[in-house]
Amino acid sequence: MTEILAPVGGKEQLFAAIQAVFRSWDNPRANIYRRDNDIPYSWGTAVNVQMMAFGNLNDESGTGVAFTRDPATGERKLMGEFLINAQGEDVVAGVRTPMPIAKMAEIMPKVFKQFTEVCAKLEKHYRDMQDMEFTIENGKLFMLQTRNGKRTAKAALKIACDLVDEGMRTEQEAVLMVEPRNLDTLLHPQFDTVALKRAQPMGRGLPASPGAACGKIVFTADDAKAWKERGEKVVLVRLETSPEDIEGMKAAQGILTVRGGMTSHAAVVARGMGECCVSGCQEIQMDEEGKKFILGGKTFREGDWISIDGSTGNIYDGVIPTVDATIAGEFGRIMMWADKFRRLKVRTNADTPRDAKKARELGAEGIGLCRTEHMFFSQSRIAAFREMICADTVEERRLALAKILPYQQDDFEQLFEALDGQPVTIRFLDPPLHEFVPHTDEEIALLAKAQHKPISRIKEIIDNLHEINPMMGHRGCRLCVTYPEIAVMQTKAVIRAAINTQKRHKGWNVKPEIMIPLTGDPKEFKFVKDIVVHVANDEIQAAEIKLNYEVGTMIEIPRAALTAAEIADEAEFFCFGTNDLTQMTYGFSRDDAGKFLGSYYDKKIFENDPFARLDQSGVGKLMEMAVTDGKKSRPMLHCGICGEHGGDPVSVAFCHKLGLDYVSCSPFRVPIARLAAAQAALLSE
Ligand code: PEP
Ligand code: MG
Repeated sequence: MTEILAPVGGKEQLFAAIQAVFRSWDNPRANIYRRDNDIPYSWGTAVNVQMMAFGNLNDESGTGVAFTRDPATGERKLMGEFLINAQGEDVVAGVRTPMPIAKMAEIMPKVFKQFTEVCAKLEKHYRDMQDMEFTIENGKLFMLQTRNGKRTAKAALKIACDLVDEGMRTEQEAVLMVEPRNLDTLLHPQFDTVALKRAQPMGRGLPASPGAACGKIVFTADDAKAWKERGEKVVLVRLETSPEDIEGMKAAQGILTVRGGMTSHAAVVARGMGECCVSGCQEIQMDEEGKKFILGGKTFREGDWISIDGSTGNIYDGVIPTVDATIAGEFGRIMMWADKFRRLKVRTNADTPRDAKKARELGAEGIGLCRTEHMFFSQSRIAAFREMICADTVEERRLALAKILPYQQDDFEQLFEALDGQPVTIRFLDPPLHEFVPHTDEEIALLAKAQHKPISRIKEIIDNLHEINPMMGHRGCRLCVTYPEIAVMQTKAVIRAAINTQKRHKGWNVKPEIMIPLTGDPKEFKFVKDIVVHVANDEIQAAEIKLNYEVGTMIEIPRAALTAAEIADEAEFFCFGTNDLTQMTYGFSRDDAGKFLGSYYDKKIFENDPFARLDQSGVGKLMEMAVTDGKKSRPMLHCGICGEHGGDPVSVAFCHKLGLDYVSCSPFRVPIARLAAAQAALLSE
């Protein structure tokens, strides 16, 4: 049956249009855009109804859009497009090719003059680059809208500096004009914008580490290395990554994982390396043998091209060319102003001298977290580490630890050197040991041979290390409680490295900060600290040198926050491990939460991933309590954050408010944190 529609009058049309605008607030694209741009859902939208100006009346009419400065480069010149005898829709829809705005000067000189005067007035009034829409009806100019124009990071820096030079803005205001997150685009490769506009994402994961990558699909870390060696660009696609994949991850242009959240191994390691990563793409159906997968209805095999965007989480079929990152000229100037205004120090999370040097170049003022377990990823070192894990007796473990000691000491010396005497926080071994055990028969056989044990015994040890819930299992300081010899070896490595560095650089004040992870009880902390102090003092005495060091703890278990006053009786500093603190406060597994958080966004229960943006009302409250109570016991207690939130601008602002001393983040997020810290300081004045 054909439905007969009643004639629709102007009023109905108007209300339908108004409703359509309100409805648009809730469409999926708008929800994603808001989440990406920190716009709360609760803001809602508004509708203005106003009389229409007709740009399509005759040839004395027209319409256009314009920017007062170039939104791509920031150059001070009028930019825009214009169409004669047309409506705005014609410009946007692209059915007709518009003329450059300069043409308007020839075709409608009087209106153009008036338009340029309005542009100057608007820019002067808003003291910022304007993005405007206008219509000319029968020779009369109507301004439809003006707003501060969106711009690339490069343009944002230039415009902010130019406005200071033109006397329109102060240095403080210029610092506030640059969106910290946008700096990412200056620090990592990006997709070619024209090619990106034409591309349609076929899937989406979590934007785990910014930048763009394009390469051929490989499924193993070994293939990533081998393909790179023969000159291929690859994207490593894995269910999830593990410590053994590190070299393959390094060899790849980017990493795509099916599982894992914003603090998963893949995300944390990629961010540290400054490499693009999209994690937790649940839509991928990986085949059982891990040699192909289905995404967006298409099967992808090894060697197929894929492009991933670690800033948005988008995944594209085929090749999208990338352009390398270049730090623009005005970057240094804005950063210099930012450093002048911020109170928070900015440190970096770095485990290798290479990452530490990069972070120093980007302005880091120390290392806030060196995850010592990351120093054993390479094939050449993992053997000794596995011997340590699979030791049956204390003696065997000590022998294995003696092999590890020189590596650790050497690494720490290089870190101290790279930091030019700035503070270095070294965290003792943290992860569950089974993460490092061998998997293949070949690796197990090798280990058995090295330890003079039957293969069956090694397999038994590996089975025994298996834990149902390893994140809450035998990890962190619990390892040192069970195996104090680990703390002994790590203390020797840190202190000997510091002594050697101090001897080489007389003017430096090398002051290692030894950080005990996963403390939950004051006595547990004291047990480990006593070992550290005992060994450290012996080493210092034997070297006949003066060396200061501190022993502090991560606060990453709610109970540590609740007992902060007693912990601070012993701990000389606190560093908030908000990855674990978030995990344990919510009871969400940091590796698995990605599977269901999507439903939380859809149902508007959450607007942000709590592993990326600090939950201020819950986790933040624990932090506040820990800082307050900790300082009651130890007024000079210095406090920082080294969870992934330390590089998120909104979380950095919260840390400023809490009165933390520093934030620590991956090297490529250091400039973002510097700018965010300055903005937080300026906005709280
Ligand atoms: C943390 O838990 O926030 C942290 C920095 O430690 P990791 O991510 O290594 O557990
Ligand atoms: Mg942790």
